Amino acid sequence: MEQNARSSENGKAKSGDRQQREDAATAEGAATTTRRALLAAAAGGAAGLLLAGCTPPIGRSRAQGLDPFTLGIASGYPTPEGFVLWTRLAPEAHELFAGSAKRVSAGAAPHPLVPATLPVTVPVQWEVAEDEGMRRIVRKGSVDATAAAAHGVHVEVAGLATNRWYWYRFSALGYRSRVGRTRTFPRERDAVSRLRLAVASCQNIEHGYFAAYRHMVADDPDLVVHLGDYIYEGTWGQNLVRPLRLGEAQTLADYRQRHAIYKRDPDLQEAHALFPWVMVWDDHEVANDYADASPERILPPALFLERRAAAYQAYYEHMPMPPRMAPQGAAMRIHTSLPIGDLATLHLLDNRQYRSPQACPMPGRGGGNAVVPSACDALRDPARSALGAEQERWLDRRFAAADSHWNLVGQQTLMAPMLMPARSGPARVRTDGWDGYPLSRQRLLDSIVQHRLRNPVVLGGDLHAFYAADLHAKADDPASAVIASEFVTTSITSQAPGEDHFARVRAANPHIRLADGRRRGYLRLTLSRDRLEADLMALEDVRRPHSGIGRLAAFVAEAGRPGPQPA
Ligand code: FE
Ligand code: CA
Repeated sequence: MEQNARSSENGKAKSGDRQQREDAATAEGAATTTRRALLAAAAGGAAGLLLAGCTPPIGRSRAQGLDPFTLGIASGYPTPEGFVLWTRLAPEAHELFAGSAKRVSAGAAPHPLVPATLPVTVPVQWEVAEDEGMRRIVRKGSVDATAAAAHGVHVEVAGLATNRWYWYRFSALGYRSRVGRTRTFPRERDAVSRLRLAVASCQNIEHGYFAAYRHMVADDPDLVVHLGDYIYEGTWGQNLVRPLRLGEAQTLADYRQRHAIYKRDPDLQEAHALFPWVMVWDDHEVANDYADASPERILPPALFLERRAAAYQAYYEHMPMPPRMAPQGAAMRIHTSLPIGDLATLHLLDNRQYRSPQACPMPGRGGGNAVVPSACDALRDPARSALGAEQERWLDRRFAAADSHWNLVGQQTLMAPMLMPARSGPARVRTDGWDGYPLSRQRLLDSIVQHRLRNPVVLGGDLHAFYAADLHAKADDPASAVIASEFVTTSITSQAPGEDHFARVRAANPHIRLADGRRRGYLRLTLSRDRLEADLMALEDVRRPHSGIGRLAAFVAEAGRPGPQPA
């Protein structure tokens, strides 16, 4: 991210800063070279598989057992003076999914998950350096990895310099992890001129390869934003590329296994190791279409909340999230606001944990449905909420206080109305999306208008397709003013409906400028003062680990002029 000249306040803070910045620039260059070399090697063959879990012992005599850094390392939630570092010790995961589905599918029985080979408590050392060679260490410490937390660790590093890249690594049991790279962010009022984000969602590992992350790494964003369906709890879809042959996850051990399998993917590991991430979940981190304590397959809430607690626990154990987000039983607060200098604020919403049950479900079931709006009275019940009353109030306060130039709202799905015409009979809406919570959506849009939120842009996932849309002040009144731009990213891998669905959606929804489910990929955003550029990055073939990528379409949202325009 680039800061304007007028924001060199922190540059003046230290003498010798110029030298420091030159060193940082050199080190960044070196990191890029290394990454390119790794990418080139990976593109050439099986080298990509070596990236996962191949860390040499510090000294053979000191190494105890197998390398514990099989799930990679990660960072997240950058602040002006720090970030969260993550790893999980899992020497047993050498057996899990080392780039090929064969090892997993060979035995359908669960693998050992809290490894018998690790002591209950293992001290883990961490180091943060100003250079890729880890010569100028600026912070270090030790943290205990415990069996109760699956030997996952979350280190909140503070006291670092604002708005620069750092390098980090862990060591434990005589092994050293690879070196990762992450960054601090500018202070809230520091002037920032440019920011690059990568937005991901829906990565069903069985549906293909995570080649999208390989290309995301080459883009070198400042931050990766994941909007949900990071894992899938069960199997669905056709012509599976990497079948797991596992039953649906129900227990803590099951969810830990799922997360460990996903974290073994070399492309995902690379994207975690080289950039800070922030993330919010959707339904499949727990169970399809759940809403608060109500699952799709009807179950007493107390039983479902036990499952939700297990899923949230495993999620936290595997993500670079700050300790303040650690679950308390079945509750885990992940909605948050992330300031990125004066250029942008990223408001991250959770529209699963607190939502009202879906309106007008199919008989004998919970979860989503496709309904004719006039035939579903629950849609007009103002007490129903997609976010829960408390999160709605929190967001309204955040919008009231927001001072940044752009306001990005990261949430799970399409916020714009989407009418789905039927081949015969009246059009329907999906009750699992915002169309199932129209009054809750209207309250959010009213809050944007009331607080004159500057340059709002809504970001979503969930639909396994790219969407670009105008958001109107009155969501269902196309004559009302356009107040925000919306971009939905396609899935990293997850399968989409057929093309005729999108053709019908485009025909019936003029405010939806683009709806395209043909390709898997990610959304690349470049923000400056004047404009936000959205590149819809589409893989050639998700079934190939080294698939190429192209730009399916590009839009811009101009500051002061809501609504995506073709670039
Ligand atoms: Fe999904
Ligand atoms: Ca769903």
